[in-house]
Amino acid sequence: MSSGPEIRERPSPNHDSRGDVIAGTPRIDMLVLHYTGMRSAVAALDWLCDPAAKVSAHYVVEEDGAVWRLVPEERRAWHAGVSSWLGESGLNAASIGIEIVNPGHEWGYRAFSEPQMDAVEALCRDIIARRRIRPHRIVGHSDIAPTRKSDPGELFDWPRLARAGIGLWPPPDADLRHRRGRGVGIVERAAALSDLARIGYQVEPGNEVPPLIAFQRRFRADRWDGRLDGETAGRLAEVRQAVEASLAAEEAAKRDRFRSYRRVN
Ligand SMILES: [Zn+2]
Repeated sequence: MSSGPEIRERPSPNHDSRGDVIAGTPRIDMLVLHYTGMRSAVAALDWLCDPAAKVSAHYVVEEDGAVWRLVPEERRAWHAGVSSWLGESGLNAASIGIEIVNPGHEWGYRAFSEPQMDAVEALCRDIIARRRIRPHRIVGHSDIAPTRKSDPGELFDWPRLARAGIGLWPPPDADLRHRRGRGVGIVERAAALSDLARIGYQVEPGNEVPPLIAFQRRFRADRWDGRLDGETAGRLAEVRQAVEASLAAEEAAKRDRFRSYRRVN
């Protein structure tokens, strides 16, 4: 059992029941990462604990690496809002939300500091190990609410987290790109948008740009213009392949649990 990072308590009143409770245990199988998007950490903590704000998160990680718990994991914190991933909506019920202090695009977006990333990594590792959260269910706020949100944004170091076993970051796959990523025309566009939806994004006909930008911010952060160019199509194919593998592993684990249940009973 991992000991996890040192956590300070700063209770927020902004939470309620997760609702979806099986045998006394709420289903918690997603992790959502945010930035605070406020001028300072003090302002963000005050806001997330203000009953009038009606928003919160389970944890807040400051730029110096200090970690605050605002809401117990068993309770539903109000961080995601209207949201969708892999066909499921209302994701506060099944997720743990972490707010990472950063002024955000409105107040002077900047790189996340080393101590802060160390703390985010330790916190995520601890949660994932305890809750057995699958890599394809670890997302940014903009992934699940792409028309409204852009956090944690293109400066967030997802590759670093993936090296620590947190979330997906597939390596380049030249063969797959050769087959899938070249010359995006009509047919390839449909395939690429199907990849985008299969990865988890809500893709609505005629409104594909917001989820494409969210995907780019996360998986090819040097350019996030919402254009479905060859590089984006190639990356989509790589990420989809990784998601399929992660989904298959999740299904296999479920089957194993069922088999061992039947053996015992
Ligand atoms: Zn957010």
